[in-house]
Amino acid sequence: MRAVRLEAVGSIGLQDVGKPIAGPDDLLVRIEACGVCGTDRHLFHGEFPCRPPVTPGHEFSGIVEAVGADVSGFCVGDRVTGDPNIACGRCVHCHAGRVNLCSNLSAIGIHRDGGFADYVVLPHKQAFILPAGLNPLHGAFCEPLGCCLHGVDLAGIRPGGSVAVLGGGVIGLLTVQLARLAGATTIILSTRQASRRALAEELGATSTVDPTAADVIYAISGPSGLAPGGVDVVFECAGVKETVEQSMRLARAGGTVVIVGVTPQGMKAEFEPFDLLFRELKVVGSFLNPFTHRRAADLIASGAIEIDRLISRQVPLEEAADVIANPPAPGEVKVLVVPGLA
Ligand code: NAP
Ligand code: ZN
Repeated sequence: MRAVRLEAVGSIGLQDVGKPIAGPDDLLVRIEACGVCGTDRHLFHGEFPCRPPVTPGHEFSGIVEAVGADVSGFCVGDRVTGDPNIACGRCVHCHAGRVNLCSNLSAIGIHRDGGFADYVVLPHKQAFILPAGLNPLHGAFCEPLGCCLHGVDLAGIRPGGSVAVLGGGVIGLLTVQLARLAGATTIILSTRQASRRALAEELGATSTVDPTAADVIYAISGPSGLAPGGVDVVFECAGVKETVEQSMRLARAGGTVVIVGVTPQGMKAEFEPFDLLFRELKVVGSFLNPFTHRRAADLIASGAIEIDRLISRQVPLEEAADVIANPPAPGEVKVLVVPGLA
């Protein structure tokens, strides 16, 4: 079969490799679609630890082609999505129900072969069935949506509440949609690209801000701003110093800041502890997708999340390495690698 192999930092390409065999607890899944994520680019540049040689790709879904001898509940022909994050189930964090903080966490597409290939081996405990009639491209969005769901769960949005989302990539645009579903009636997105602001307004943002044209703090939380005094919840989904610092100033007194964006390790941001205390801000980190993958799959199956507008382009396996090795094109939201594409 074909697989995109990361041989070493900076070295990636399509290879012919042996078709993998499902172990007794595994499913062999024929990939229908696998999303390219910023993490794949970080792996290529050596900015995220992994063990090459490896096939990246952790946002995948496909069709079960073989079922391991000890697996029940799955059949050949089932459409499945894979939760790539494998917790050990034995460490102190797993025992406390915090599987995303597992001391021995490993991930498909990072530590073992993933979805930029014709087939992936998926432990059945990481697999979730999708409807047979679902658009085959949509299953690739379960993983990023599961991460956004965890952030929204931590935020405690209430019907009628107000939300600001900083960063209009796929994570920000999915979070806008989840905030709408959670009942927020004021949803403000700040992102630099005009095409993303327009898309966000179609997906449920009640207003948008261009951070290059306006003072974001003043435009949102100023006395005549979009949410005078600030918003109930801020989602930081850009992962840059500027937005991390904005997030704490945009939350209203008693509000919550959820840090979803991954900033470079070692980066520092400034905030006033007095402000946190005096305004009783809650600042929480949201990491990965603990126990949210099933719900993400159900949400996508229900059609409640707009997915098609987030797919910028589909590429065959032959073009995947090039997409991963290069920065995203302007306006691009999500690129899907589709092995079945001619
Ligand atoms: P992305 O496409 O890079 O989106 C982030 C966007 O933020 C950028 O594309 C950029 O869009 C915008 N941005 C940059 N500077 C900004 C500024 N000063 N003000 C407002 N917006 C700004 O990435 P993504 O896939 O959506 O992911 C977003 C972040 O979440 C990344 O850091 C990613 O690593 C992280 N992530 C976290 C988890 C988790 O479990 N916590 C899971 C997945 C991803 P414009 O060019 O339009 O400004
Ligand atoms: Zn563990």
